[in-house]
Amino acid sequence: MKELWFDTAKCLIGGEWTAPAGGGTLPLYDPSTGAEIGAIARGTAQDIDAAVAAAEAAYRGAWGQTPAFERGRLLMKLGQMVLEKADVLAAIEAADVGKPLKQARADAVALARYLEFYGGAADKLHGQTIPFLDGYTVYTLREPHGVTGHIVPWNYPMQIIGRSIGAALATGNACVLKPAEDACLTALAFADLALQAGLPAGALNVVPGLGAEAGAALTGHPGIHHISFTGSVGTGIAVQKAAADNVIPVTLELGGKSPQVVFADADLDAALPFLVNAGIQNCGQTCSASSRILVERSRYDEVVARMAERYDALRVGRAVDDLDVGPLISARQKGIVAGFMDHGTDLEVAGQATLGDLPDGGYYVAPTLFAGATGAHKLAQEEIFGPVQVVIPFEGEEEAVAIANGTDYGLVASVWTDSGARQMRLAKAIRAGQVFINNYGAAGGVELPFGGTGKSGHGREKGFEALYAFTTLKTVAAYHG
Ligand code: NDP
Repeated sequence: MKELWFDTAKCLIGGEWTAPAGGGTLPLYDPSTGAEIGAIARGTAQDIDAAVAAAEAAYRGAWGQTPAFERGRLLMKLGQMVLEKADVLAAIEAADVGKPLKQARADAVALARYLEFYGGAADKLHGQTIPFLDGYTVYTLREPHGVTGHIVPWNYPMQIIGRSIGAALATGNACVLKPAEDACLTALAFADLALQAGLPAGALNVVPGLGAEAGAALTGHPGIHHISFTGSVGTGIAVQKAAADNVIPVTLELGGKSPQVVFADADLDAALPFLVNAGIQNCGQTCSASSRILVERSRYDEVVARMAERYDALRVGRAVDDLDVGPLISARQKGIVAGFMDHGTDLEVAGQATLGDLPDGGYYVAPTLFAGATGAHKLAQEEIFGPVQVVIPFEGEEEAVAIANGTDYGLVASVWTDSGARQMRLAKAIRAGQVFINNYGAAGGVELPFGGTGKSGHGREKGFEALYAFTTLKTVAAYHG
């Protein structure tokens, strides 16, 4: 890839690009073609040890002594550098994860936005004074955890790095990042930009490698003080168990089965683009993808027909073609999604994109809209992580809420209705970390706290809330008589 200015087969540890201790590498594949396009480092437990030691040294040294406003200034400078390189980062991401260029560029811009937001907030996180007994002065201090571990998945590497590394650095933590083996390149590019921006050595360390090796070594390491994890429920449970062994806090963001609930009085012209885009964006590989569309029965046929029209018109292509939908991340993910689609044979295929002339080795699936499902159907219960949506009819508010809340997940939901009272009732009744009214996703919402309930995980990232998650509170009670 001609855009690369760093060695992809190295780790960043203590401000130095180093070969992994075991000398191993892992192949990189372009999801659009299946072609091998390079290699990344296969980091080991030894590299994680070195990275955690480097982070601890930075925390005790130069980074720990950097005043909050200077941390903020540095993050904002880094945000500017990311913006200037947005096209290059987008090209790298498109080749690495198969994301259409426009979507990859939007991720780069979101990364910059996180750095600006958390850079601006770095010196605005205050403790409190607490009225107490006569003769005391009591106050709280918000302090960094120390060394934070970050396990980032492959679906939105830049955005998730922005929201977790941005907030962690803003609050003065030193970070060790383990990107997903299928999506390391923009993490490495970002780390190099951070060095260029003047981030002290060891404040950010990156160890690529396998989840079961480098990832497990990081999450079980006794030298880290907080873990931020985004990924599957199964791996999230393993990460939480590892955190429990060291008695450290963990933020888990584990995806969902997010519904959009469409009532008969909804403005369908406004809703339709959201209904479909929230399912097919990033080829459906989005934690907050809306994979269930619940529609009040009197307008059910109309919604299915209008969504189907959009599905039939979707254009699927290579990332560089920059169409509506690209390939999935990997052959493995293609197998997972195809397996789910095989479970839809008892449903109606209401709409489906046509796959045109695509490279044979690419990981493509045809975006598909299934209709006629019940809330209990496997495709309405399990996270598919592909461009597949199911439409489910309902009758009245009570049934809508029961179906919306009828999965193990609770990440995001939306309600489409003109009735203000119903909007308020549903926003309360639906179990989710975010509820959108007459929109979906609020354009990413860097400022908006984000996270789940149930098997969608716990803890909040994004917005100001993340700054609390990446700090610990100390109460100081001074007796002075
Ligand atoms: P995983 O949860 O296994 O991977 C997510 C991250 O965890 C990756 O960085 C991975 O590294 C790392 N990891 C894997 N095993 C361990 C471990 N034992 N200890 C620490 N870190 C580990 O998801 P998959 O990539 O296997 O995807 C499978 C399914 O997970 C998807 O189909 C989707 O349903 C869900 N998923 C949800 C995401 C979300 O945004 N909520 C994101 C990604 C997946 P590596 O990739 O190198 O193994």
